[in-house]
Amino acid sequence: MPLERLPSCIPIPLKEKELKEIVSKTKDWVVMHGIGIRSRTAFSEDSIDCAPFILLPSTFPRKEFQKAVEIQTTLNELMHWVAHDQEFLRETLKETIQVDEFTGNLFKIWETVLSEGVSQPLSLGLVRNDLMLDSLHSWKQVEFNTIAAGFGWLGPASLTINRFVLEELGHHDKVENLPENNALTGLTSGLLEAWKIYGDPTAVILIIVEDITYNICDQRFHEFELKRLNSRVKSVRKTLTDIYQQGCLNEHNELIVDDIVVSVVYFRSAYTPDQIPSKNEWDARLLIERSQAIKCPSIQYHLAGTKKVQQALTKPGILERFLSEPKKIAAVKEIFTGLYGLDFDESGDQTIQMALNDPEKFVLKPQREGGGNNIYGQEVREFMLKLKDSKERTAWILMERIHPPISTGYIIRAGAIGLPQLSEMVSELGIFGVIIGDFQKILVNRQVGHMLRTKKSTDNEGGVAAGFGALDTPYLI
Ligand code: ADP
Ligand code: MG
Ligand code: MG
Repeated sequence: MPLERLPSCIPIPLKEKELKEIVSKTKDWVVMHGIGIRSRTAFSEDSIDCAPFILLPSTFPRKEFQKAVEIQTTLNELMHWVAHDQEFLRETLKETIQVDEFTGNLFKIWETVLSEGVSQPLSLGLVRNDLMLDSLHSWKQVEFNTIAAGFGWLGPASLTINRFVLEELGHHDKVENLPENNALTGLTSGLLEAWKIYGDPTAVILIIVEDITYNICDQRFHEFELKRLNSRVKSVRKTLTDIYQQGCLNEHNELIVDDIVVSVVYFRSAYTPDQIPSKNEWDARLLIERSQAIKCPSIQYHLAGTKKVQQALTKPGILERFLSEPKKIAAVKEIFTGLYGLDFDESGDQTIQMALNDPEKFVLKPQREGGGNNIYGQEVREFMLKLKDSKERTAWILMERIHPPISTGYIIRAGAIGLPQLSEMVSELGIFGVIIGDFQKILVNRQVGHMLRTKKSTDNEGGVAAGFGALDTPYLI
């Protein structure tokens, strides 16, 4: 089946002279407005490269965009109840945690705090639901991120890039088709609300970071926005190793770091094995979970965001366990694509056969985050042949491959030589949500903005921080 195509928002190609000028000017504009990323090849804490971006915004069907926005609060609600259904999480993850050490360790932390008694019943979710169009008229969910869902700054910042370019090129009338995007304020307000609920004005917001942060602008702008919204709130950045060395609990189970109480812990790290490299960092993760601080995410939110849980949610009758309104259930089912488990049972064997017969139709995914972990195309077959008889197979899921419509545009990257050429591209939309709630109730449930990433249609993955995709804005038609 030929792939559908999306039209460009203005006539392309641009004339060579115009293209050269606008690229050079926009790259400067981008760096000078804090839309950057640290270089992986020439890393320095003192310099920031212009983040990769798409010169002109990519067109999107307006109705589908609105649908993706509208479903966010339902998905927030769904994931909140999933995270608080102990029986469901246990049953769903029971095989996976036997073979996936990382998920197994997260699960142990969850079991430990449940058996000890939970100090802080509230969870904070700063989440992102990722979708791809699979035809011009339907969205399919790629995944739901409950930990370190980035681009709260770079999402809205992309809008300012594409608005700047359209205006520079004289297309002022087109700007109204770029939807507003207040993701940064929305997400940061969530942090602030959790800080207020904690109720100690002297307590800080702790951001757990990697040893080296490449996506520094995205993270720092959250901190700057916190200050803008309330100049009295202090945030501190620490690694899990720092917390192991410097953190403790007081007699009320409050988390104390550098003699200061922590009210909210915002994880921008701790979602891959290399970010929790030894027992020390696992101990730090447990210490945080044992504390009274409000966690973003709590351990149950983290577990609810695993790919295995995503797959289990597509089984018949499962959504009904978490959502009561038939309209909401139907809307969520619409964005699910085929997801299959690889358990040691008849259905797992059928899944394997299906993948071997038609590998190009699927993506094979482990329980990992952060991009670059999936298997695509013919490799699905080779990999499946190895996985088939290994006990590791229950750590993987198989997902139908989504084939989004193709757009054409210019991808701009720092350090690229010569004028950019037109590329065939596909996009992935992320919608941000904020949730605060506990075992019994949801206090806050909002949709707060979006981000769009676009990559070459021939590339499998599209993470911007991982080095594949580029920042983009939907141009609604
Ligand atoms: P991660 O948690 O590592 O981001 P994802 O499930 O989002 O894992 O997969 C990474 C990337 O792989 C996505 O951003 C998307 O570009 C691509 N991808 C994932 N699932 C599919 C799919 N079903 N069809 C097409 N591309 C996919
Ligand atoms: Mg993810
Ligand atoms: Mg992803």
